[in-house]
Amino acid sequence: MKIMQAIVFDIKRYAVHDGPGIRTSVFFKGCPLRCVWCHNPESYKAGIESICRNNRLGDVEVAGQAEIGKAYTINQLISEIENDQLFFDESGGGVTFSGGEPLMQIDFLEAILKACKQREIHTALDTTAYAPKDKIDRIVNYVDLFLFDLKHMLDADHLKSTGVSNKLILDNLRYLSEKGKQIIIRFPMIPGFNDSKENINLMLDFLNELPRKPEFHILPYHRTGQDKFRRFGIESTMPDIPSLLEEDTEWVQSIFKESGYKVSVGG
Ligand code: SF4
Repeated sequence: MKIMQAIVFDIKRYAVHDGPGIRTSVFFKGCPLRCVWCHNPESYKAGIESICRNNRLGDVEVAGQAEIGKAYTINQLISEIENDQLFFDESGGGVTFSGGEPLMQIDFLEAILKACKQREIHTALDTTAYAPKDKIDRIVNYVDLFLFDLKHMLDADHLKSTGVSNKLILDNLRYLSEKGKQIIIRFPMIPGFNDSKENINLMLDFLNELPRKPEFHILPYHRTGQDKFRRFGIESTMPDIPSLLEEDTEWVQSIFKESGYKVSVGG
């Protein structure tokens, strides 16, 4: 019998921006989107890959090879997670499955979520929700908190900047809210892409219609992703613009706060 494995490209311990308390964040490889501003381009492809990695040594750029992704069985990953149980217990934390898009490895995701719930570990899923409903149904009862990426309300602009339509994503958001799930919206605020007044107001209108009000978190654009494109030798189409400061997001914060949302910036 084939042993089930997941391909993971990073495990971050002591994370404090991926849900409540101190968390262990597990980053699954593979993503169906291609956001122009992506900060994890090494997550695009599903399998383990050897890629060209350019490193800077002083003023010189040196080409090298790097292996991205590592296979884990359920037992291996759960024991990595359990190593941090003490921090979870003391801080009210838990594990966050992120990516890429964890729903792309649905069999493993379902199994690892069940294993976490058997051990009473709090679970969060950081997701694009670009997945058919049957996949959502398989995991919904084992996820305590959804960190739900919401990138653009206008379908044509969503398609242009991420490579996919937002229809399925919005349907899934409504579906999860109707099921009474706890949701934090994560809005990556990207200058020139989704920071128009029109988009912000459309987002507010859509969220106002949900049966359960989610929290609203703004993730200001940060240039670090662009350095990764260069290091990993992947072509980027993102214009060379500066990172956003927290104060640049204040007008969006005000709009959502005035409508009764709990708002935070950066996580
Ligand atoms: S969903 Fe996330 S990982 Fe996937 S392309 Fe967009 S920013 Fe990158």
